[in-house]
Amino acid sequence: MENQLIVYNTLTRKKEVFKSILPGYVGMYVCGPTVYGNAHLGHARPAITFDLVFRYLKHLGYKVRYVRNITDVGHLVADADDGEDKVAKKAKLESLEPMEVVQMYTHDYHQNMGLLNVLPPSIEPRASGHIPEQIETVNKILEAGYAYESNGSIYFDVQKFAETNEYGTLSGRKIEDLISNTRELEGQEEKRSPLDFAIWKKAQPEHIMRWHSPWSDGFPGWHLECSAMSTKYLGDSFDIHGGGMDLTFPHHEAEMAQSKIANGKPSVNYWMHNNMITLNGQKMGKSLGNAISLKQFFSGEHPLLEKAYSPMTIRFFMLQAHYRSTLDFSNEALQAAEKGYARMMKAVETLKKLPVSQESTVDVDALKEKVYVALNDDFNSPIAIAHLFDTVKMVNSINDGTEKITAVQFEDLKKFMQAILFDVLGFQEEEVSEGAGQEVFNNVVDLLLELRMEAKAKKDWATADKIRNQLTEMGFVVKDTKDGFDWKLK
Ligand code: ZN
Repeated sequence: MENQLIVYNTLTRKKEVFKSILPGYVGMYVCGPTVYGNAHLGHARPAITFDLVFRYLKHLGYKVRYVRNITDVGHLVADADDGEDKVAKKAKLESLEPMEVVQMYTHDYHQNMGLLNVLPPSIEPRASGHIPEQIETVNKILEAGYAYESNGSIYFDVQKFAETNEYGTLSGRKIEDLISNTRELEGQEEKRSPLDFAIWKKAQPEHIMRWHSPWSDGFPGWHLECSAMSTKYLGDSFDIHGGGMDLTFPHHEAEMAQSKIANGKPSVNYWMHNNMITLNGQKMGKSLGNAISLKQFFSGEHPLLEKAYSPMTIRFFMLQAHYRSTLDFSNEALQAAEKGYARMMKAVETLKKLPVSQESTVDVDALKEKVYVALNDDFNSPIAIAHLFDTVKMVNSINDGTEKITAVQFEDLKKFMQAILFDVLGFQEEEVSEGAGQEVFNNVVDLLLELRMEAKAKKDWATADKIRNQLTEMGFVVKDTKDGFDWKLK
C-alpha cells in the first residue's frame, strides 16, 4: 500500500508513522489476564484489539512475534504491594491449589478467546515460569542503584528515577500529585517514599506462592514480570506494547521505569492502549455486579441479558468501535450488531455466486483503497466496516442486476473480502444462532417423519422402516400417534 500505517502512541499522545526496529519484523507484547476468574468482556476487548493489530500487521507482510503473558503470581488484591495474591485468595476460597486455579481459568480464557476467533499469541509466558528471569531483573536494577532492600523486600526507587527520567508521562500524571495521593497506602513504612513499588516481596508465613531469592523467600512484584518476559522474548527494545488503558498506571508506568533501568534504554517504541467497556453506561466490575462472563453472553444466562449473543456478534460489536473509544454494551446495541453482522455474512454468501458481465459499473479499487486507508489510520475498524457495508450494497446491486462487475473485478473483490473480513477482522461464518438452529433441526426431523408417513401410505415399508430405525439408532424416540407422529431425543 502506498499509504503508511499510522499508530497512536499513548506515550507521546500523537499519531506516528509506524516504523519497525527491524525491517519486516514486529515484536509486540501485550499484558494478558490475571487468571483467577472466568473470562469476561473486560478480557475480550484487549484480546480482540491486539488480535486485530496482530492480524493486520501480518496482512501487511510483517513477521510478528506476539507475546501475551499469563499472570499467575504476584498480582495482589487491590493491585497493592501488600496483601493476598489474587490467585491464592481464589484457591483458598475454592479449596484448590493455586496452580489448579491457574489451570482452570487459563483454560477458560483460551476456550473463550478461541470462540471469539482470537488467534493464540506466538508465545504465552507465565509469570511463575519466569522467576529466575525476574530475580535477574531485580539484580540489574539493584546494581544500577535504582532499588533498595528493606526487610527482605526490594523496592524500586521512584524518586531517584524521576530525578533524571520522566515518571508519570505514560499515564499523564505528575509526580507531585502521585506522592500526595499514595501516602495512605499500607506497608509504606518499609519504603523510602510511598511512591516506590515492590519488585520483590518477602512472603509472610501464610503466603503460599513463594520462591527462594538472594533477599528472602518471596515472590516478584506484579509489574516486574512484564519487564522480565518482554526482554527475554523480544529483546531490550521492541516495537509495540499493548494493554488496557486501566493498566497505564501503575502497571505500565512501573514497567517502563524498571525496563529502562534494567536494559539501559527505553524498551518500547509504541505504547498502545484500548479504552474501557461500560455496561448500560456503568463501568464494568465485579463490585458493581455487572461483570458478565463471556460464557454468560454466549448462553444468555444472566439477568441483564435479554438473549444469548454469539461470539461473532460480540467481536463485530467491539470492532464497530475504535479501540481507543469507550464502548457501551447494552442489549439494544448488541441486537443491532447481530443484525449488521448477519447482513454482512449474507452478502458474503451472495458474493460467492455473483453474475459477471463484460462491462463494469463499479469501482472495486476505490472501495479497497478506502478500507486500507481506514485500517492504516490507527486500525480504524469502524470506518473500515462502514466501507465494507458499502461493499455489501454494491454486492446486492450487482446481484439484482442494477450494477455490473467484470470477472476480473469479481475475483479481486472475492479475494479482498475474504482477506479483510476473515483474515484481518477475524470474523467467521457462524452456525445459525442456537434458537434458530434448534428450529431448523426440529423442522428437519419433522420432514423426515412426514416422508415416513407418506411412505407408509404408499405401503413402502422398506423406506418407512429405514427412516424409523435410523432415527432410533441416532437416539430419537419416535411414536405413532392418532394425528401422525411424535418424537423426542432420548
Ligand atoms: Zn503487564
